[in-house]
Amino acid sequence: MNLSRCPHCRVKLGNYRYADACPHCHVELKHNTKPLVRARKPEAHLAQPWPFKIFFNLVRVVES
Ligand SMILES: [Zn+2]
Repeated sequence: MNLSRCPHCRVKLGNYRYADACPHCHVELKHNTKPLVRARKPEAHLAQPWPFKIFFNLVRVVES
């Protein structure tokens, strides 16, 4: 979703339509930032916990 106007101050965004923040009031344009955050999160979420869990389990086994 891309708005042609800032939802906060109603300024016309023009070339800043895809910017992370409004060029006028500098409020984050969540309709631009949210899809990116959503697309990145699942990867980081899946990539991190498992190796860490395995690593700490190995450390526990070695120490005991
Ligand atoms: Zn604005």
